[in-house]
Amino acid sequence: MSRETGATRRLWKFHGGVHPPQHKEISTTLPVSAARMPARLVLPLHQHIGEPAEPTVAKGEKVLKGQMIARPQGYVSAPVHAPTSGTIADIGDYPVPHPSGLSAACMVIEPDGEECWMERQPIEDYTTLPPSELRNLIREAGIVGLGGAGFPAYIKYNPGHQKAIQTLILNGVECEPFITCDDMLMREAPGDIIGGLRVIQHALQARECLIAIEDNKPQAIAALRQAVAGYDDIEVVEVPTLYPQGSEKQLIKVLTGKEVPADGLALNIGVVCANVGTAAAVHRAINRGEPLISRYVTITGSAVGAPRNLDVLLGTPMRDLIEECDGDLGRIERLIMGGPMMGFALHRHDLPVIKTTNCILAATAKDLPPQRPELPCIRCGACADVCPVNLLPQQLYWYSKHHNLDKVQEYDLFDCIECGCCSYVCPSNIPLVQYFRYAKGDIWTQEREKEKSDIARRRHEFRQLRIEREKAERLAKRNRKKSALKADTAMAERDKKKAEIQAAIARTQARRQAAMKEAEKRRKSFGKEARGPMDETPQQPDNASDNERKE
Ligand code: SF4
Ligand code: SF4
Repeated sequence: MSRETGATRRLWKFHGGVHPPQHKEISTTLPVSAARMPARLVLPLHQHIGEPAEPTVAKGEKVLKGQMIARPQGYVSAPVHAPTSGTIADIGDYPVPHPSGLSAACMVIEPDGEECWMERQPIEDYTTLPPSELRNLIREAGIVGLGGAGFPAYIKYNPGHQKAIQTLILNGVECEPFITCDDMLMREAPGDIIGGLRVIQHALQARECLIAIEDNKPQAIAALRQAVAGYDDIEVVEVPTLYPQGSEKQLIKVLTGKEVPADGLALNIGVVCANVGTAAAVHRAINRGEPLISRYVTITGSAVGAPRNLDVLLGTPMRDLIEECDGDLGRIERLIMGGPMMGFALHRHDLPVIKTTNCILAATAKDLPPQRPELPCIRCGACADVCPVNLLPQQLYWYSKHHNLDKVQEYDLFDCIECGCCSYVCPSNIPLVQYFRYAKGDIWTQEREKEKSDIARRRHEFRQLRIEREKAERLAKRNRKKSALKADTAMAERDKKKAEIQAAIARTQARRQAAMKEAEKRRKSFGKEARGPMDETPQQPDNASDNERKE
């Protein structure tokens, strides 16, 4: 399905989608200002998709604003930089904003109030740099997708050996209720966004750039149209407001009519999507030499007296921001990071702002009515009608509820983008998306368990092999010893026999000599008797008679 807009660009429509109440106007009345410096900043080493960063400084060390304090580990990872100058007060586990509610490794900075920058090295003319060098600089600056995904940006800007990038899309849609940080950034810093867009375009060598903004943000559209005046290859495209249009695959479909393959990437069809906030961060990194150390955050909800957007240093406790916006911590019934559709609940107020914190929603029952009791599915099909991925949520629900993990995968559970449209329209109040998150979690756990048991099985097999090998070695050694012993015994036997033979020979010789001596003696005495006493001659020594015998 497609339709013509008043402008030249043709737009397509994705399947489904919903129109939840926007609640955006409440946080766009005040201009953006810098948030107050907190007493300390807590910086998780894992603020992005991929491996956590590794500290490069020690506890007690002084750091400068913008200095890298943790380097990336591996290809999919991002560094962390000091948001201000000060001292590393601690490196250890602290609570972090994550659906699990668990703690993780963090670095704590106590600001010195000096705001003393490291030496910044802006690039005078980025067009003279090869794309690979630009990507490296973007990596060194710690830039990740600021739309909420947190994927390291430099990887996205590397088309590799894919075919050339035809279209670079800047995503200014911001379709989730309550969130207005991108809207305010587009209104207040359109030049930064265009500066970053040109850098990314150069890194990708993209032929055309589209900036997509929903039609509920007229001021942002006007600001960016003014900023791109004179650029023939950049177009600001106004798209009709529909949730979840800001989702990458849905936005690509709307702007280009192309479908990203279920198991593929936007790169595969010659398209790259970047968030407007990410583009502004790229501009600051390349054109000002400043790494990612702050971001715009929406502080909103009925528990906040003066909802607005603040430019916040990463690591700032959320409680400080709520209080700065006249929030009443006691009135908060649900604290959410992100929006009501795709955000997640936080269990404490002192968690730090991280690179992916776009909104802190301090909600009361007025904003988010309590969950109504879940009723049986009446198979009305409303959930399937609104699913932007064309899934069958009622089937996924059925199999998720009954832990049939093979079947949920058959029904493409992992294509679910967890947009919450199905839950939003369900007349039976079934929290469908929660069932899907649990099912995904169960499958991942099962995979991990399987991986663990495969590792254990391989270890067991290896151990058995080692035991068998050692047993065989011991047997061979024993056999070798036995053979050596046998050989020794045989030799001893032989020596013994030889000695016995020699002894026997010696005895025989001795007996023979004795007999000869006796015979000689008898012979001599016989001669004497025959001659009488006158014939007697002096007796010869024995050896003389021997000599005679020899002669
Ligand atoms: S919308 Fe709810 S009740 Fe209707 S089919 Fe889907 S899960 Fe069942
Ligand atoms: S949460 Fe998943 S199943 Fe439900 S509408 Fe969104 S994509 Fe479809």
